[in-house]
Amino acid sequence: MAKIKTYPHIDYKKCTACRECITFCPFDCLDLVVRGKDSYGNTYPGLTEKGKKECTSCGICAGKCPIGVIEMKEELPGA
Ligand code: SF4
Ligand code: SF4
Repeated sequence: MAKIKTYPHIDYKKCTACRECITFCPFDCLDLVVRGKDSYGNTYPGLTEKGKKECTSCGICAGKCPIGVIEMKEELPGA
């Protein structure tokens, strides 16, 4: 049976942009590509275009997030 693909979804209301998830992704799928909705123009982690194709659903990013705001879900995260 094929393994179900899941992708990291980040709760941006809680994410501190600490970048741990970016650092620990073994496949270099995450980067600061999501523009926050605040007025400071900060960016937050998300799957890169490469990452949307190459994420292995390993869940390491979710396990490494120090505040547990990454949830693995079956759909690709929105832009
Ligand atoms: S699930 Fe694994 S491959 Fe996908 S972004 Fe997270 S650490 Fe990288
Ligand atoms: S590890 Fe968690 S808090 Fe840190 S940038 Fe990633 S999602 Fe945000």
